[in-house]
Amino acid sequence: MRPLLLLDFDGPLNPHRAEGVPPGYERHEITEGVKTWRILLNPLHGVELNALADSFDLVWASSWEHGANRLLGPLLGLPELPTILWPDRTPVRRGSWKAPYVADWVGDRPFAWVDDEVGDVERDRFPEALILPVDARGGLTDRHFGVLREWVRKPFAYKAFPGDS
Ligand SMILES: [Mg+2]
Repeated sequence: MRPLLLLDFDGPLNPHRAEGVPPGYERHEITEGVKTWRILLNPLHGVELNALADSFDLVWASSWEHGANRLLGPLLGLPELPTILWPDRTPVRRGSWKAPYVADWVGDRPFAWVDDEVGDVERDRFPEALILPVDARGGLTDRHFGVLREWVRKPFAYKAFPGDS
């Protein structure tokens, strides 16, 4: 079974808590109907993710839901990806409100989950997954991509991601 790579957008790919424009990023203004969003994107993320698609099945796990394919993926050169939907986004007491939907969606497939709002709660819940928290001030870095490549070579064996939080 190929592992899944669950991708959050705001935080990992759009470092929405960054001050200014971090190195490697470009500002984008997205308009749909009467709505406009300002986001930051790093074109190298598209390159890295397309390379990871040799080993993972990429999946949107973003609150943009179908908007991720419509508005965001093309800006990074990503193909249309399967998308997890979130019927109820009520905050939960501990951890990510996405977790129950993620559990349903992944079933028994191995997966890595990249998100700025995951941590120890999700690690406890999904002990065999690679839970990869990303700082929303800086987005995905070479280090994260290195960890993903390392993990997918031997999924389940790679547990700790030292020094993160
Ligand atoms: Mg996020």
